[in-house]
Amino acid sequence: MFIKDIFLNKRLTISFELFPPKDDKNFEGINSTIEELKKLNPDFISVTYGAGGSSRSRTIELASIIKNKYDIETIAHLTCITSSREEINGILNDLKLNNIGNVLALRGDIPKGFIIKESFKYAKDLIYEISQRKDFSISAAAYPEGHVECADIGKNIEYLKEKVEKGADFLITQLFFDNDNFYNFREELYKNNINVPIVTGIIPVLDKRQIERIAALSGAVIPQKIKRIMDKYEHSPEALKEAGIAYTSEQIVDLISNDVQGIHLYTMNKHNAVKEIMENIQELRKIVNS
Ligand code: FAD
Repeated sequence: MFIKDIFLNKRLTISFELFPPKDDKNFEGINSTIEELKKLNPDFISVTYGAGGSSRSRTIELASIIKNKYDIETIAHLTCITSSREEINGILNDLKLNNIGNVLALRGDIPKGFIIKESFKYAKDLIYEISQRKDFSISAAAYPEGHVECADIGKNIEYLKEKVEKGADFLITQLFFDNDNFYNFREELYKNNINVPIVTGIIPVLDKRQIERIAALSGAVIPQKIKRIMDKYEHSPEALKEAGIAYTSEQIVDLISNDVQGIHLYTMNKHNAVKEIMENIQELRKIVNS
């Protein structure tokens, strides 16, 4: 199923992100995580590509397990900056063979010292390439707080519009913690006639070092409220987890109450906190989609 079609019948989607484990041993373990996540009734699970050092071929392997073994709709992330047209089409062919019809089309980060020489300079070029095939639903990345290489929100919106014009059916945002920044961004999208569904990327606050590292990499603003929680409980993991789950649940309640079309949780391949957060919003989910 094309994920773009889910938005036609549902006002709110719930989805998760997984990354492919690096080695075979952990790869086996991911099955139990998917089993637990399946119980939470996600609309889809996305699988990262090459991020965090994971092997690229494992993206297709994991997406295929999610789709074909667990019967959960999936999105395979795909980056293009270091790939030739031939390589990209080879991957797309493999995805098709594995019954995977949804791709998150990304440029990817530019490796240090890399000279851009191939066909795909920006994500929009990849989006256009995929759209010509007509056999994938395409999503693209959006940056409510700007991109690390381009803080200018206006420019980012201009580039985002190009991605939609080239064929992106819906958008998934970079993680953020401050909902007001997202609401301002959404207003700007509407003003610029970008009307495709926007799924909001949210990461549970569970570990101070992890959140600081990810925020530094992604450029996400950490609000004072989270800083205080993390500083106070950084040496008490259970207390930080409890406070973090409360914060993230409240963040999601506010997003749902402000009519977002999707919540996409960056699970970091852990299901316990995700389960608790989902329990905290189960009635909201029912009401919104009733
Ligand atoms: P683009 O949209 O091409 O933007 C890249 C940069 O170029 C931005 O600074 C933008 O402002 C600028 N730009 C865009 N168009 C133009 C133009 N026409 N002219 C001039 N400048 C332009 N990375 C991975 O490696 N693997 C993953 O699985 C992965 N998953 C992700 C999932 C989500 C939801 C998000 C938000 C990001 C993910 N990333 C992943 C990170 C992503 O690859 C990086 O943020 C990357 O630097 C940009 O990718 P993009 O697709 O947004 O690129």
